[in-house]
Amino acid sequence: MREQCSGAANIKTPTLKIKKCPECNAEIEVFSTDLELKCGKCGFTIYNELESCIQWCKYAKECVGEEVYQRLKKKD
Ligand SMILES: [Zn+2]
Ligand SMILES: [Zn+2]
Repeated sequence: MREQCSGAANIKTPTLKIKKCPECNAEIEVFSTDLELKCGKCGFTIYNELESCIQWCKYAKECVGEEVYQRLKKKD
């Protein structure tokens, strides 16, 4: 099997981060697999800077799996 890039690990094993809503300053839990989500308080949409290989790795489909790849790729 091909060696996996570090970006793929983030997606295979979701990690939880706390972000602050830029609008109302509420704390929001963001999984590393979430592309975007809404603040539970004010509804502001927050975008997650996905640290993954999907944007640049030519093996991304194999790194993260076909299903995940399709879901995240439609960002652009
Ligand atoms: Zn908010
Ligand atoms: Zn990759």
